[in-house]
Amino acid sequence: MVFKSINPYTEEVNWEYDSFSFEDCEAHIKKSRAAFSEWSSLSIEERTGYLARAAEVLRKNSDIYAEIITKEMGKPIKQSRAEVQKCALVCDYYVKNAAEFLKNEFVDTGAEKSYVSFEPLGVILGIMPWNFPFWQVFKFAISAICAGNVCVLKHASNVPKSALEVEKIFLEAGFPEYVFKSLLIDSRTAMEIIKKDMVDGISLTGSINAGSEIGELAGKTIMPFVLELGGSDPFIVLEDADIGRAAQAAAKSRFLNSGQGCIAAKRFIVLEAIIEDFTKTFELEVNKLKVGNPMDEETDIGPVARKEFVKDLEKILEDATKKGAEPLICGKDCEKGFFFKPTIIPAASLDMEACSVEVFGPIAPLITVKDDDEAVNVANSTEFGLGAEVWSGNLDRAEKMAKRIRSGFVAVNGMVRSDPRLPFGGIKKSGIGRELSHYGLKEFTNIKAIVVN
Ligand code: NDP
Repeated sequence: MVFKSINPYTEEVNWEYDSFSFEDCEAHIKKSRAAFSEWSSLSIEERTGYLARAAEVLRKNSDIYAEIITKEMGKPIKQSRAEVQKCALVCDYYVKNAAEFLKNEFVDTGAEKSYVSFEPLGVILGIMPWNFPFWQVFKFAISAICAGNVCVLKHASNVPKSALEVEKIFLEAGFPEYVFKSLLIDSRTAMEIIKKDMVDGISLTGSINAGSEIGELAGKTIMPFVLELGGSDPFIVLEDADIGRAAQAAAKSRFLNSGQGCIAAKRFIVLEAIIEDFTKTFELEVNKLKVGNPMDEETDIGPVARKEFVKDLEKILEDATKKGAEPLICGKDCEKGFFFKPTIIPAASLDMEACSVEVFGPIAPLITVKDDDEAVNVANSTEFGLGAEVWSGNLDRAEKMAKRIRSGFVAVNGMVRSDPRLPFGGIKKSGIGRELSHYGLKEFTNIKAIVVN
């Protein structure tokens, strides 16, 4: 099999790579296992020394990496650059905090000495998506590696160059070979690796389908796993909110990365008292976004990552119009590329696919509700539970609402963003486990009790 990296703007092939065979993977994972025994025996200070150098490499080469991201999946170049900078930040965070997070926790049990130690598990397989092709990898790998594990990566099939480039970052930073290794493999080979019990843990970021298949396999082999899956985040605007600020954040949250984010706001739930004002202000904000060539510094919205996504989005819009929607289409036409213009669906109803499935693209349905209770009920009415935003001039009211929303993250008067200092992950069908912060650092550790009598 050949992995093709296709530029979603020019529609041309960027790079092509042959996939690894299963036998190649066996040989690589054997070397990863050998690297584990050395890597896990280093002190935390030695390991974080390498992380600090990885951050330097990321910052030094950020323009080169940003261009690869934009060419492979169409993200506007300024957003790609920000993605690379964020990878450096997660390294900085664990350089500063990992030793404290991983130190033994002493407990008084009446014995001579009792404590909890956090020990690495071994080789962790990361299965990652294309939407943030560097960040998603760093988000799982840095904490796993910092805790003393080594990682192998099965990246999404459309971003093989990113997969290889990330491996090079670790090598350029001086990490021993095989602390991080990219395997260019399809999902079937990844599943074989799990079935044959060749790794010691799995971190998957992707769709519900992938999560369910991998969770089933991991269950069969009794292998620990973290699943970061999809979301359909509600963005609630109460009548006492600052409508201008809320509309600006709504446009950013929904249309960043052409709407292809798990924590993008995907359903806008607005109190009826302000729906007209909000719709007008939101439309104005969306029209300010420049659609076009993602290599252009001015561009805010590029193409979607793959050709077939345009068709998927068209179907969602068709379903909405059949059910009575009158969409507001923003932005201009582009001559080439896999474009879908930013679209607002005013007066959306809950039976529309735009409100019930995870829309991974630039479509924003607006749902009108009469009061706070209805807003919470609509917010909680999907199978997802990743993030949510609440906008209100009354912080007590907004915080009360935040507590009632079933999700892993709620931002009041702001956007949901992954932040190394905070746990990241979802409930319901949005996933199992947490990444980032001290919670993420310990996901792939043996939390071991040691009692000395
Ligand atoms: P997919 O689930 O299709 O793919 C994600 C990764 O899983 C890819 O590497 C893919 O490989 C692989 N994969 C898919 N099925 C299997 C399988 N059965 N066994 C092994 N590997 C498999 O998702 P997308 O790439 O389309 O990404 C979008 C999805 O990811 C959205 O639902 C989004 O919400 C979610 N996501 C969640 C995030 C979170 O942190 N919660 C963050 C970002 C995205 P291949 O490419 O070869 O098919």
